[in-house]
Amino acid sequence: MTGSRGGAGARVGALDLYEHQGKELFRRYGIPVSDGRLASTAAEARRAAEELAGKVVVKAQVLTGGRGKAGGVKLAATPDEAEACAGAILGLEIRGHAVRSVWLERASEIAKEYYLSVTFDRGAKKPLLLLTTEGGVEIEEVAARSPAALARVHVDPLVGYQPYEGRRLAHAAGIADPDERRQLLAIVEKLYRCFAAEEAMLCEINPLIVTPDGELKALDAKVTIDDSALFRHPEVAAMRDTAADDPLESLARETGVTYVRLDGSVGILANGAGLAMATVDLVVLAGGRPANFCDLGGGGRAEGVVDALDVITRDPQVRSIFFNIFGGLTRGDEVARGILAALERTEIAVPIVVRLDGTNAEAGRRILGEAKREQLHVEPTMIAAAERAVELAA
Ligand code: GDP
Ligand code: MN
Repeated sequence: MTGSRGGAGARVGALDLYEHQGKELFRRYGIPVSDGRLASTAAEARRAAEELAGKVVVKAQVLTGGRGKAGGVKLAATPDEAEACAGAILGLEIRGHAVRSVWLERASEIAKEYYLSVTFDRGAKKPLLLLTTEGGVEIEEVAARSPAALARVHVDPLVGYQPYEGRRLAHAAGIADPDERRQLLAIVEKLYRCFAAEEAMLCEINPLIVTPDGELKALDAKVTIDDSALFRHPEVAAMRDTAADDPLESLARETGVTYVRLDGSVGILANGAGLAMATVDLVVLAGGRPANFCDLGGGGRAEGVVDALDVITRDPQVRSIFFNIFGGLTRGDEVARGILAALERTEIAVPIVVRLDGTNAEAGRRILGEAKREQLHVEPTMIAAAERAVELAA
């Protein structure tokens, strides 16, 4: 339930959708949402408001929550007002996210605000349905203030959603009105179907409103899709907004390198996520600050090394590079050739410290030594290499 639009920038392993994209998915699964339009200028917003006719709500499209509180959600009674609201919102920066587009939809009247989500309960290894009639505010707040108001029901992923689970959820949340219950149960079922079919990690509706006429509708949408399932969902994968991503992280994704930008000066390159984490720790232990986390993966072929180095050296804050390779399937000689190939292909201005161990490490070290490159520093141990890299970055 956290993460998704609450995170600071792109996260590895997940694709966060904008509200309007989440609502588009919801619409496909039959969850009631308001008719709306996307606009990236105030003039476009005016036209959208004219088309929608009547009162509209203008909403900042950013991958973070709390837009309402930050002034990113405004009601407009006329196209004039919509244009003015859009102009103001398009100039905002919400929690570090520049607003580059707004979503306009027919304004809804709100009698009640509920919260509904499907997420993973990793402890139980099952999807979890959450529902509370105290919606509209952040769910963490409800969980802290009145945990009893938060109804929780697990779904058996092998059996799939069963209507009784929805009934238990509604009962636990204290939804008594039969008409409301009927609509809610339909929405829960559809939201679960969306969650399962799209291989989401989170599908959240906050608020799920009840209008004065007693109609239930999703007023907001927060959807996070599992990155590793995206190849099965090309339409959703195409929703990724690469302009909002860190350009280096996008480049890394294109080349198949796992890369997360950090804010220090030692560029890190390791094979395997565990070793990369340990390398980050070692650099900190040696008194330095990692510039990134980069996992070459298990293959460690020359091409991968070239791609990874290409990504890392484009980051201007990198002052030295620490290669930490433990060869299993990855062969030391391959890695060494990859490093030399990268040096041939691109001008790399910073020193490179290499620690090679495992399969063909001897051969790798020999290849690097024979190349007689001044910027290459081969160290025998991880700790020595970390110290050297930190020293060279100073
Ligand atoms: P968030 O703050 O980023 O979660 O953005 P939301 O989409 O949840 O909107 C925040 C709040 O704006 C909601 O909880 C509503 O109270 C209000 N809001 C959003 N859309 C409408 C609407 O169509 N009509 C009215 N009256 N209020 C709305
Ligand atoms: Mn919301």
